[in-house]
Amino acid sequence: MIIVLKPNTPEAKIDEVTEIVKKLGYEPKIIKGTEHTVIGAVGDEHFHQSLERLKNYPYVQNVLPIQKPYKLASREFSSKNTIVKIGKESVGGGEFRFIAGPCAVESYEQMHAATKDIVEAGVNIVRGGAYKPRTSPYAFQGLGEKGLEILKAMKDEFGVAIITEVVGVTHIEKVAAVADCLQIGARNCQNYHLLEMVSKVDRPVLLKRGMSTTISEWLSAAEYLVVNGCPNVILCERGIRTFETATRSTLDVGAVAVAKQESHFPVMIDPSHAAGKVNLVTPLACAGIAAGADGVIVEVHPDPVSAFSDAAQQIKSSEFADFIKSVMPFVKAAKKK
Ligand code: PEP
Ligand code: MN
Repeated sequence: MIIVLKPNTPEAKIDEVTEIVKKLGYEPKIIKGTEHTVIGAVGDEHFHQSLERLKNYPYVQNVLPIQKPYKLASREFSSKNTIVKIGKESVGGGEFRFIAGPCAVESYEQMHAATKDIVEAGVNIVRGGAYKPRTSPYAFQGLGEKGLEILKAMKDEFGVAIITEVVGVTHIEKVAAVADCLQIGARNCQNYHLLEMVSKVDRPVLLKRGMSTTISEWLSAAEYLVVNGCPNVILCERGIRTFETATRSTLDVGAVAVAKQESHFPVMIDPSHAAGKVNLVTPLACAGIAAGADGVIVEVHPDPVSAFSDAAQQIKSSEFADFIKSVMPFVKAAKKK
C-alpha cells in the first residue's frame, strides 16, 4: 500500500503516521517529494490489519493499493490463456465457441426441439435455466428439479454438454450432478458465499458480470472462485445498467477488451440479455466478437412467442444456424476458428 500525505505535512506528523504503519505490522519506506511525502508500507494486508483506517487520519490524503485486488485471475499470474473444458468442448483455446439454448427449461418438448436445432447447427453446448432468478417474485421461477431431469435427458439423447444456472447454495449438488458447467448469473456475481460453495464441486463456472459491477469487482469475484478451489472460470459480459433504455442492458464491449488484457480466463459475451430484443442480438454479438470475445452464449427457443421468460430476445432455434452464419465473418476477422 502507498500512503500519500497532504502537501506540507509537518515532520512530527510524518513520524506519527510512520509509527502507526509500524505498529500495524508493516515496514515503512519514506519518499519525500518537494510538496508531498509518500510512505510505502511493505507487508501483506492478508496477515495484518488494514491500512485503510489511515484514510481517516487528518494528514493523510489517500491510501492506495499497489497490487490489483485480483492476483490469481490476472495476466501477471499466467501469461498463457486458460482453456476451460465444458464436457468435451473447450473454451478459450483460439477456437470460437457457441453456447445456445432457451432462457428457461419449460418442457421436454421445448428442450428437445431447441437442442435438435442447436446440434444441427453444429453446436454442442446447450444452456437452459432450471432455476430462474427473476426480477419479479411473481414471474416464472423455473421448473427446478424437473428442469434438471429434462436437461439430463438432453445430455443422454444428444450427447451435448449442459450449462445451467445455480441461484442458491441448496441447489449446488443437484445442479452439478447434471451440469457440465455452472452458471453464476448477473444478480449473484458478488454473492461470495455462493461463489465459495460453487467452487467446491469440481465444475467449471461461467461467471456473468453483475449489472453494476466494475470490471475490477467482476475479476475479484473470479478471484473468489479460484481462491476457493475452482481454477476453471469463464468470464461473461452480459451488459451493464446505464441510463440507456433502448437496449435492455448496455453491452460493455470495452469490458471484453479489458478483461482479455487483464485476465488469462476466457471471455464470452451474452448479447441476448444485453439486447433484450431479438433484432439487436446479431449486431451486439458481432461487436463483442470484434472486441475479442472467445465465444457467445445466446438464447434460442423453438417458439419464442410462447416463451415463459425473455420472449422478446430469444432467436427462433430453427434460425440459429443463420445467426452463426451472420457472425462468422467477425469470428474469422478476429483470427479465431
Ligand atoms: C440467463 O442467462 O438466463 C440470465 C438470467 O442471465 P443474467 O444473469 O445475465 O441476467
Ligand atoms: Mn434469460
